[in-house]
Amino acid sequence: MRRKIVAGNWKMHKNAEETEDFLNELIAALPDDIEAEVIVAPPFVNLASAADHVEFTPITVAAQNMHQAESGAFTGEISAAMLKSIGVNTVILGHSERRAYFNETDAALANKVDTALKHDMTVIFCFGEELKDRQNGQHFNVVENQLRDGLFHIDDKDWAQIVLAYEPVWAIGTGETATPDQAQEMHEFIRNTLRSRYPQVAEDVSILYGGSVKPDNAREIFSKPDVDGGLIGGAALKVADFVAIAEAI
Ligand code: 13P
Repeated sequence: MRRKIVAGNWKMHKNAEETEDFLNELIAALPDDIEAEVIVAPPFVNLASAADHVEFTPITVAAQNMHQAESGAFTGEISAAMLKSIGVNTVILGHSERRAYFNETDAALANKVDTALKHDMTVIFCFGEELKDRQNGQHFNVVENQLRDGLFHIDDKDWAQIVLAYEPVWAIGTGETATPDQAQEMHEFIRNTLRSRYPQVAEDVSILYGGSVKPDNAREIFSKPDVDGGLIGGAALKVADFVAIAEAI
């Protein structure tokens, strides 16, 4: 049941017109027989138009974040129900930029996961070590703790709604990709960590790799047995590059 997925995280890029142009081009350029599920995550303000735009296409639209509360006095925040009301059923949670710049803790993320699941949303759950963790030989510990603290409280059945995205922070936006072997080593470790608590989930869950994936390195990374696709930043902003990466699955 492992799904092959290529998702584009646009971060804080593209205005309304650029979003529409990109999606028109993407819809025209994606081959009909594409094996990967293709997801795009524009900023909040363009989500509604993007969701409308892709309605009768194989493309899915995801949000880049959401708040854990149902509603309330949280100025500037967006709830799960709001996303659902515009046809957005998928949300990226725990991106390293959210963790680093917006102080999202594992505990807060666990709450966000619960809220997303309660609303029957699919979660792309991001995690990954920083450079110092890898230099100190702590990368496996850090990843294991992020997984346990963010996700090990959920029920087996809820894992059908979870996609994992391993993104080593040192490889994000730096041009420095984890080698395909480093990605495979960590993805295998993630499956083994899951196996102790959720044996079936370990076989079924899709694990995406993120961090400087480009058209020229995607094929080799995606060829690794425990890598099920990618979460793409910079290279997801150009249709030709994003399509080339999706075709590399
Ligand atoms: P880059 O592909 O730009 O390194 O970004 C990866 C990422 O953060 C996707 O969420």
